[in-house]
Amino acid sequence: MQDTFFLAEDKDDVTRNIVLRSHTSSVQSRVMLTSQPPIRIICPGRVYRNEAITARAHCFFHQIEGLYIDKNVSFADLKQVLLYFAQELFGPDTKIRLRPSYFPFTEPSAEMDVSCMLCGGEGCSFCKHTGWVEILGCGMVDPNVLELCGIDSSIYTGYAFGVGVERITNLKYMVKDLRMFSENDTRFLEEFQAIH
Ligand SMILES: [Zn+2]
Repeated sequence: MQDTFFLAEDKDDVTRNIVLRSHTSSVQSRVMLTSQPPIRIICPGRVYRNEAITARAHCFFHQIEGLYIDKNVSFADLKQVLLYFAQELFGPDTKIRLRPSYFPFTEPSAEMDVSCMLCGGEGCSFCKHTGWVEILGCGMVDPNVLELCGIDSSIYTGYAFGVGVERITNLKYMVKDLRMFSENDTRFLEEFQAIH
């Protein structure tokens, strides 16, 4: 679904195409293939997409994905975790809403919006006067995905979510240009203090 980078690797007179991942979901499938539930993972990583570099898009950025598989995991669990996450990050008055969406590996799938951090949901130019800002994608792991990974979908269910690190950082700190994250300009970096 994304514009993707391929690298050609020549080895032993054979040319192979190597894909640079466009999602960190590859980590999820590897964990599901090699372990049995309960599975609770957070996987951060760099992802690559073949896009022109502008203030609003870059050819690489970072994702964090979460995956939770166990007995009796429901959509309500997913919604509560995401609400907790949004309120920890943007403040206790933050509201969330889930819109039906499509991803190939979750069913049902949803995209999550948070109430606009600038206007509090009243509507402003930042949120295009909707009061909401899109923040992440999520859903219940498709039972077929579980089965293909050797996990019994009649016993186990799970949810997954994926969020862009730069996207979240932009919303929290209002960074105007995505390129600043990878330019190593110390004037920019010094504005952020590590917590020890
Ligand atoms: Zn707003």
